[in-house]
Amino acid sequence: MVALTVTVSGGRAEREALELAVLAPYAAKSANSGGRHYSEHEHDYRTPYQRDRERIIHSRAFRRLEYKTQVFVNHEGDYYRTRLTHSLEVAQIARTVARALRLNEDLAEAVALSHDLGHTPFGHAGESAMHALMQAHGGFEHNRQSFRVVTVLEDSYPRFPGLNLTVEVLQGLTKKGGVYSFADGAPFPQSGVHTLEAELADVADEIAYNNHDIDDGLKSGMLSLDDLAAVPLWTAHFSRVAEEMSAASLRVKILQTVKDVINTLVTDLLEQTLKNIESQGLHSLEAVREKGPGAVRMSEAMRKENALLKRTLFAKLYHHYRVERMAVKAGRVVRELFGAYCENPRILPPQFFSRVEAEGKERAVCDYIAGMTDRFALQEYKKLFDPFERV
Ligand code: MG
Repeated sequence: MVALTVTVSGGRAEREALELAVLAPYAAKSANSGGRHYSEHEHDYRTPYQRDRERIIHSRAFRRLEYKTQVFVNHEGDYYRTRLTHSLEVAQIARTVARALRLNEDLAEAVALSHDLGHTPFGHAGESAMHALMQAHGGFEHNRQSFRVVTVLEDSYPRFPGLNLTVEVLQGLTKKGGVYSFADGAPFPQSGVHTLEAELADVADEIAYNNHDIDDGLKSGMLSLDDLAAVPLWTAHFSRVAEEMSAASLRVKILQTVKDVINTLVTDLLEQTLKNIESQGLHSLEAVREKGPGAVRMSEAMRKENALLKRTLFAKLYHHYRVERMAVKAGRVVRELFGAYCENPRILPPQFFSRVEAEGKERAVCDYIAGMTDRFALQEYKKLFDPFERV
């Protein structure tokens, strides 16, 4: 028998050295991070990206993802994806690909877990209502709001606002471009911080939602197998699965097909990305930063197949009349809450009211509503508009 000796080893320096030895030349290594906006002592045995991932998981905004709509409003059924389970599936895919490509898993996971923190309640219906309300006051966009959540709104540290994440994680949140700045007004330096890990989290997002929306859509009855008949990416796998496991239930066949579609997309992504890394000469992190985004992609043929799947989901599921009905209701709740708080900002909780002077009442109200879960927004709507409800 081999005796196991357990020792506490592996301080941060050791872990960072391990990354340098094991990860690919084009990967982001913790030891070479561009650091944090507010200087801090790094942890004794956790790497900076590992620490970022853990700060995100412990944040309030992350916990609230549990009750925020992905496509289906949370109270429609416990089975459906929420933004929390969606984010976990994105992180899972990102980790798989990161490990296979010898990228930094902690960084890819940190970006994946934080990518949806800025979403309003009620998914895209909530977001478009908020954008319309904020037109004259700087607008609203969920990626910008994710950046705002982790640089301004989370408030658990005494010396700085937000979570003070590394610039590489922050860059992963600045997807739509434009100018981003920190709470103290300093601009966020977007050049020279690009990583393949951040790019990967973005592609993993798309693979995750296309596939879990097929699963949720079919389960809800709002999407049918007939709707997917014109999507070769689906039908090719579904007919093979149906033949191979003819005795299995339809439910199992569907789940096996979803699994195979994800596997096909992820494998194609891996193979094409390796080719791109080679053809673009990305033999170091410096080369990745110089080149900018574009290496972590599926092949042209697979992107076309995937786009057809996405168009089908848009037409059949995201615009299903029941989804539209919820969207109309969601827009009304967001608009009426916004109107009530702006009419008298003193009904805001003190920590949001205190921001009115510096940020303007619209931005303070927008931050408050954007942070709400679906069910909190609905409860608040009742409290403010139902005369018999306790406030
Ligand atoms: Mg997402």
